[in-house]
Amino acid sequence: MREQIEILASLQNVDREIREKSGVKVVLLAEIQKKEEEIRTKCADIALFRAEWSEKDKQRQEKEQLLQEESKKATEKRMRMNRIKNIKELQALQREIDQIKLGNSQLEEEVIKLLEEAESYASALRAKEEELRQLEAAWREKQGEIEAQVAGIERAVAEASALRQAIATRLNRELIERYELIFSRRGGMAVVTVSDGICQGCYMNIPPQLWNEIIKSEKLILCPSCHRILYSKPTVPNDKQL
Ligand SMILES: [Zn+2]
Repeated sequence: MREQIEILASLQNVDREIREKSGVKVVLLAEIQKKEEEIRTKCADIALFRAEWSEKDKQRQEKEQLLQEESKKATEKRMRMNRIKNIKELQALQREIDQIKLGNSQLEEEVIKLLEEAESYASALRAKEEELRQLEAAWREKQGEIEAQVAGIERAVAEASALRQAIATRLNRELIERYELIFSRRGGMAVVTVSDGICQGCYMNIPPQLWNEIIKSEKLILCPSCHRILYSKPTVPNDKQL
């Protein structure tokens, strides 16, 4: 049993490496996803902003066109005045022209306001686009690094998995299954040593009778507290009892 458990301990070392590296990979992939999401959000924000700006610009164009049409009408009415002799008609026409002028000055103010708004939209848009450009440039560099890291992890995990398979062939199938169950339930630590009568998995005392059995190593001994597989390292002083 001792040899089997020692092989199991080396299998655990490999499994812990795979587990740790896989954990790092998950974190790195999450980082990529988060950054891509951030960039997508910024792009959507810019698109929305551009649509708002375009709506303002359309309003301005419509008002400018209306202004042109109204000015044309006023000019036509002024020309008609030259041909009219009746004073009342003239006064009526003048009133119409004044009305148009009043409306136009209001329109002009609105156009100026819209132009100013468009201006501030444009400068804000430029700032947003610049921010996005910098974010993307910085990210492209970082993304390359992260992807290389992920690729490195994948290679290391593939190597470790091959090693694990080789180690596993030397182990009893039932023992591996039992070990795997404990490994997944006990936070990636299934085989632990006992040092100074203390389980190194849960740091609880091991009863002396059990300790003797661990040293004999004739059968699989589990910690009474954490149910991990216990073994003693050949280097520990108590080994002289063997
Ligand atoms: Zn324990």
